[in-house]
Amino acid sequence: MKIYNTLTKRKDEFVPLEPGKVKMYVCGPTVYNFIHIGNARPMIVFDTVRRYFEYKGYDVNYVSNFTDVDDKIIKKAIEEGVDADTISKRYIEECKKDMAGMNVKPATTHPLATEEICGMLEMIQTLIDKGFAYKAPDGTVYFRVKAFKEYGKLSHKNLDDLQSGFREIKVTGEEGKEDPADFVLWKPKKEGEPYWESDWCQGRPGWHIECSVMSRKYLGEQIDIHAGGEDLIFPHHENEIAQSEAANGKTFANYWMHNAFLNIDNRKMSKSLGNFFTVREISEKYDLQVLRFFMLSAHYRSPLNFSAELMEASKNGLERILNCVDRLQDFLKSAAEGDMTGQEAENAKEVQALVEKYEAAMDDDFNTADAISAVFELVKLANSTANESSTKAYLSMVKDTIEKLCDVLGIITEKKEEILDSEIEEMIAARQQARKDKNFALADEIRGKLLEKGIILEDTREGVKWKRA
Ligand code: AMP
Ligand code: ZN
Repeated sequence: MKIYNTLTKRKDEFVPLEPGKVKMYVCGPTVYNFIHIGNARPMIVFDTVRRYFEYKGYDVNYVSNFTDVDDKIIKKAIEEGVDADTISKRYIEECKKDMAGMNVKPATTHPLATEEICGMLEMIQTLIDKGFAYKAPDGTVYFRVKAFKEYGKLSHKNLDDLQSGFREIKVTGEEGKEDPADFVLWKPKKEGEPYWESDWCQGRPGWHIECSVMSRKYLGEQIDIHAGGEDLIFPHHENEIAQSEAANGKTFANYWMHNAFLNIDNRKMSKSLGNFFTVREISEKYDLQVLRFFMLSAHYRSPLNFSAELMEASKNGLERILNCVDRLQDFLKSAAEGDMTGQEAENAKEVQALVEKYEAAMDDDFNTADAISAVFELVKLANSTANESSTKAYLSMVKDTIEKLCDVLGIITEKKEEILDSEIEEMIAARQQARKDKNFALADEIRGKLLEKGIILEDTREGVKWKRA
């Protein structure tokens, strides 16, 4: 298997630290609001990476954090007049619901920054003891970038360039820095902010230290893969490397994987630009399987532009696969027992060739776009070769193969009879119109159709209300 490694800037053969095991860490979201579909891209991409390793027989230890102490969380808490904790807990729960909707498996461990402060204090102290960090007069602890000779190796930046760049940006409040390139490990509290006691000041951690600490605690000093969106390469991942390697004296991660951005109108989707859709909004229009399928239709290192047209194309593509599995399921009900026919055995070889094509695509830096093409070819083959008179042996082999390959992509092949909120509203409006037109038979028919899908209507004085049974 080959993985594009940001560190070496080439595709490297994957060699695990321990045979048969993969230790991977994926930087998770800062939880101060519903996640947007840009945040969903790394979740879906790296969940697929995990699933493919599992398909290959690896035992994957997958750690992904929630950053639950941060300026944005505190700001939101102040706006709502609640604790920062209330905000982060709420959005962690909401994020987990979105992940479940997108069929993203829960991580082996989802650590929270606020529960790992002890480990952070310990690592910061080690860095001070080893000369890699220092305390400024105001109590802030900074990482001494100059002391870590390999700083810049991930982002392929040269420290001299970095320093001249930083010199032009003088940040007030950071006068205690020895060097403009140094970054915060621990900072003093401000009025009304959550804080923890430490030897340096009452305060809270900088953003980068949590990942170094959690990764070491749950996966060990050395890991196979560290991943996240490409905006994390610098400074976040560069700083994580500096902290971890300075503290542990070992290479931190062997492979660094970064997904490209999800864009909208060719600009990065982000909260700060305001050009985003939340996963929750998308779920009102589409089954989140469609979103997942859309994300995987491009290679993870290519920018992907979100558009209604591409979502529709993904919806149709997904439907084609689900319909095929559905047909195979139908044929299976009355299929004949016994061995495959000679022709079926020939077709089975073609199925196997497509499985190999799929695996070759995934082995080549997780090329899900090509892997999906192989699935479509398989669907085409199934549609042209499977029918009422096929044997059970052939039908179940084809069906199991499609299901297994889809499962790696996180696509559930069982057709869901799900109905979207917007469809319900449309049907209710049609029923109201039918009643206005005194077409009570049609109105009753619509009510019955909704009931079949588990939707119960209630006519109240304020209008029609509905709930799921
Ligand atoms: P954040 O909550 O901003 O720290 O982001 C959580 C994860 O989402 C990180 O891995 C980011 O790199 C990633 N991310 C944020 N915006 C986008 C985007 N538009 N496209 C792809 N990944 C993104
Ligand atoms: Zn991180």
